[in-house]
Amino acid sequence: MSDTAWMDQIRFDAQGLVPAVVQDAVSKEVLMLAYMNKESLQKTVETGQTWFWSRSRQELWNKGATSGHTQHVQSLSYDCDGDTLLVAVKQDGPACHTGAYSCFYRTVMGDNEAKSKSAEDRFGPLSRLESTIAQRDAERPDGAYTTYLFEKGLDKILKKIGEETAEVIIAGKNRDRVELRSEAADLIFHLLVLLREQQVPFDDVLQELEFRHRQPVKKD
Ligand code: AMP
Ligand code: ZN
Ligand code: ZN
Repeated sequence: MSDTAWMDQIRFDAQGLVPAVVQDAVSKEVLMLAYMNKESLQKTVETGQTWFWSRSRQELWNKGATSGHTQHVQSLSYDCDGDTLLVAVKQDGPACHTGAYSCFYRTVMGDNEAKSKSAEDRFGPLSRLESTIAQRDAERPDGAYTTYLFEKGLDKILKKIGEETAEVIIAGKNRDRVELRSEAADLIFHLLVLLREQQVPFDDVLQELEFRHRQPVKKD
């Protein structure tokens, strides 16, 4: 592995580590923070995937090696004084090991809306809802409807999806657009709760759609 001149600008700390902020290259959402040592930085540059030094496991760590939730590096920058790296990635699946897209799914000031607002992101509300559902699941705040669903469990969630589906069908049958809009929102919310309960990231669903988009359409 060869050193490059810019690598001399990186100020690794006494443990030989430098923090790396990882962000979604498209939405700019901050996904996680982890530490790189010189070797993991070199491997990141060589492979185009993120490598870190795990402080808890004391080993080199290729993000996604076990989970499949790989980060494909789109750009790598360092700050003014060389003590922080910024890595913009294309993220496969969730970045967080809890299944949340971003590690920062717990918001204590402001709301998830203020966190990631990118004008071209029409699906921002969906992604913020996914974060909120992940937060409810992790924290189970009293009185929240989402908490209630997670505590009641899978059968309750499935029953709700059945009910909301029926209501969507009725609204569609009646050509009631106001009702359809509202029932579709209910269905999507409960679907996201189910995906969370089964640890299926919404990004996997998006990837599935994207994949189909590239295939010839099958009619049946
Ligand atoms: P992965 O690299 O996604 O295959 O995950 C391997 C292990 O790394 C997980 O079991 C976690 O212990 C840890 N890990 C993965 N993602 C994160 C993250 N965003 N923040 C902290 N630890 C993580
Ligand atoms: Zn700095
Ligand atoms: Zn995390």
